[in-house]
Amino acid sequence: MTSAEGSDDQHAYDYVVVGAGVAGSIVAARLSDDPRTTVLLLEAGQELDDTPQTRDPERSAELLGTDADWAHTTEPQSGLGGRAVGWHAGRAVGGSSAVNASLWLRGGAADYDAWAAYGPGWDWAAALDAFRRHEGGGRGPLPVRASGEHPLKRAVFAAAEELGLVGGDHLSARPEGVDTLRLTARDGRRVTFADAFLGPARRRRNLRILTGAQATRVELADGRARGVTYRRDGGPPATAAARREVLLAAGAVRTPHLLLLSGIGPEDHLASLGIPVVAALPGVGRNLQDHICVGGSFRAAADFRPAGGAGTGGASAGAVVLARSGPGAEDPDIEIVLAPAAGGRRAGVTLGVIALQPRSRGTVRLAGADPLVPPLVDPGYLGDPSGEDLAVLRAGSRLAQRLLRTRALAPYAADPADLGFRDGATDDEVDTFVRRTASGMFHPAGTARFGPPGDPGAVLDADLRVRGIAGLRVVDASAIPLLNRGHSMAPTAVVAERAAGLVLTNDTHTTTDTGAHEAKEPQP
Ligand SMILES: Cc1cc2nc3c(=O)[nH]c(=O)nc-3n(C[C@H](O)[C@H](O)[C@H](O)COP(=O)(O)OP(=O)(O)OC[C@H]3O[C@@H](n4cnc5c(N)ncnc54)[C@H](O)[C@@H]3O)c2cc1C
Repeated sequence: MTSAEGSDDQHAYDYVVVGAGVAGSIVAARLSDDPRTTVLLLEAGQELDDTPQTRDPERSAELLGTDADWAHTTEPQSGLGGRAVGWHAGRAVGGSSAVNASLWLRGGAADYDAWAAYGPGWDWAAALDAFRRHEGGGRGPLPVRASGEHPLKRAVFAAAEELGLVGGDHLSARPEGVDTLRLTARDGRRVTFADAFLGPARRRRNLRILTGAQATRVELADGRARGVTYRRDGGPPATAAARREVLLAAGAVRTPHLLLLSGIGPEDHLASLGIPVVAALPGVGRNLQDHICVGGSFRAAADFRPAGGAGTGGASAGAVVLARSGPGAEDPDIEIVLAPAAGGRRAGVTLGVIALQPRSRGTVRLAGADPLVPPLVDPGYLGDPSGEDLAVLRAGSRLAQRLLRTRALAPYAADPADLGFRDGATDDEVDTFVRRTASGMFHPAGTARFGPPGDPGAVLDADLRVRGIAGLRVVDASAIPLLNRGHSMAPTAVVAERAAGLVLTNDTHTTTDTGAHEAKEPQP
């Protein structure tokens, strides 16, 4: 067995994984299954204590803005009337799954089959393989549970039926219509990906988890990743050597950040900051995608029991409708979540309208060469030239208002205008409401995506290896070429699960495809 021991400032492992979030937890656990393989997992954040705030998914908002949140702010968004909006990401063991809403919406077969245009082996079958391993039909490491019962939830089902939005089973290949919300929770308590995957692996002698360790650079020499330099709790830089591979799982903002800091990215951008270019890959930090939403909480007319803890309200008692914005939509492109508002003394309803297939694209760029300076995040919300994202949110907002006008939901909606626009509002009025109130879902993806040889936007080959650099892969949400019509833990888990399999089966010592960057991007 190769040893995982070593002094803190000079140590070597078979694999160095950066980031203990959704992807990093899966990958580190899988790679350390073999006791002869040594794995170092570097995590910038800390272990979170077991508290009501960390365990009750309804109280997750209380974690935002704390040390467990990278708490970025976007660049001013012209699509949102010039507003700069908060951009949250978990900074803790468990990553964003330690601070998020724990909602589990996989997306459907069409989402994952669309990835096949970007790389062989990426399709619904691969996704199902990961879901089966993780969910295990209710017996896997990741508990996926239906939200609890609540009168409002029953009313949402009835309202959807009134509007013909039936269909159901969002765990099927074609999710559509109304279904229960599902959460990655057990008995109403959040289960993070670290709980689910690292939990059983933590006792392994061949897996070392360093918290408070922020990676600042991938060490590269002779076209190969040799290790990772990091700063622990603000201390001096230390380097961990990787004998086989470095695997980046720092999330779709911090993974491209780390690549750029290491000289891997668009030549002009790196040169403008005086960073020597090691691999000119124009796709690094581009193609940033996020789901965008409108909505909020409003006072209910009916005096039902306010939410008061796990399983009794909030998302843990909610329902979700997947619908199409119009006859041209081949698959549902609108999600509407309705749930009792968590907390508060009066009964309330939380409603969210989400555009599921964003066309807008943004960027992650360096603000400077100092690794401790946060990157510039510009998601380009509602910036798609076609105006499709705005049109989908407009259609979704109108549909939400119709839902609130149904017989079933009328008792809960004090005034559907509470949504932010009056009945019979013009398109311009609804658009103004959308631009004034929309925000991101914090589902970033695509900033170091995979793609076929010759695809100029591809940062990775289909086996997730960084083009032109040996021994370096991206295994998190950054690799996703197209967001799913769902929420983003699921596709990230698919990427990570497949990544672990690829690492274990590939000959990791072969030179990677350096790619000639002339051909066109694949069309989804
Ligand atoms: C507030 C919020 C709510 C959300 N709600 C949902 C939801 O309900 N359902 C859903 O499916 N998705 C949700 N998401 C999105 C989901 O959590 C992410 O898509 C998913 O966690 C992405 O996984 P990842 O492994 O790519 O990144 P993460 O899970 O974010 O993990 C990245 C990890 O890397 C660490 N890291 C970053 N940089 C460094 C560095 N330089 N050195 C060392 N460590 C580093 C981070 O601290 C973090 O622990 C939400 C996200 C947020 C922020």
